Amino acid sequence: MASLSEPCPVGRFAPTPSGRMHLGNVFCALLAWASARSRKGKIILRIEDLDLERSPRHYADQLEADLEWLGLSFDEGGSAGGPHQPYYQSERFSIYGDCLQRLEQTSEIYPCFCSRASLHAASAPHLSDGRVIYPGTCRGLSPEEVRERGKLRKPASRIRVPAETVSFTDGVQGVFSAFLPADCGDFVIRRADGVYAYQLAVVADDGLMGVNQVVRGRDLLESTPIQIWLFQKLGFPVPEFYHIPLLLDPAGNRLSKRDQSLDLSALQQRFSPEDIVGLLAFLAGQIPRRGRMTPEELAEIFRWEKVPKGDIRLPADIL
Ligand code: GLU
Repeated sequence: MASLSEPCPVGRFAPTPSGRMHLGNVFCALLAWASARSRKGKIILRIEDLDLERSPRHYADQLEADLEWLGLSFDEGGSAGGPHQPYYQSERFSIYGDCLQRLEQTSEIYPCFCSRASLHAASAPHLSDGRVIYPGTCRGLSPEEVRERGKLRKPASRIRVPAETVSFTDGVQGVFSAFLPADCGDFVIRRADGVYAYQLAVVADDGLMGVNQVVRGRDLLESTPIQIWLFQKLGFPVPEFYHIPLLLDPAGNRLSKRDQSLDLSALQQRFSPEDIVGLLAFLAGQIPRRGRMTPEELAEIFRWEKVPKGDIRLPADIL
């Protein structure tokens, strides 16, 4: 039970609806939900559709229907709205613009004309998710150069990171540290087409929505140090983080939205919501054997200490 001095958890599930949810997305939704509910907390559904072309509204609607089918209800967010609406990132651009202006007062934000292709072609170091650590090409361009280049191409806005190390203790993965210039690099805060970057939007939203518990896939662990730095820059309290293992298909490959064999439309033909919740609860180390379970039953027994760190291979009969 939460002690009186512990804040009530405010969690969120923040999917990017670029296709039908797969089992890995369901795993994340379920653990975020069970973690908040296990301590009588609140859970928010935020739709991360910054790029509306990739995440059209009908995918978000389908996602809400899928969450409902699973038995996961949210206190705020999605189409139901709530005190922090809108909950669709595509409708929050003016909020991100204000945050960007606040950052401009204390940080160096500069126009960057580099294309993704030119960065990938340069021999800059890459992060494990394929992103390039920015080599600083456009940092320090003269106003003259900015004007000249601006005639040919619209720039993105990039923020300069300081020579600081950010360390934190993740609730699943343990201590994680990054030296910002070498491990993260200056990062894009608004794309050339005006779309705000995930890193800014996610921090602005978690900060403004009062989120104090972030549960998401292990693949976002490396983004967390710059997000912590942004939380501090924007004057928001830093939430707790829980980076959960990724689910792998029975052959050991990462699940992707392109592979439809493990998305919810296929799974719903063969399994009930309780079968899926029971399987995921077992894979998360919460129950000793695979069985059927409701999300409420999982919340009753949920313990972070039992969640494994390493990626999890799905059993063969799931296909
Ligand atoms: N929208 C991101 C995704 O679906 C998750 C962001 C987050 O949880 O911070 O991958």
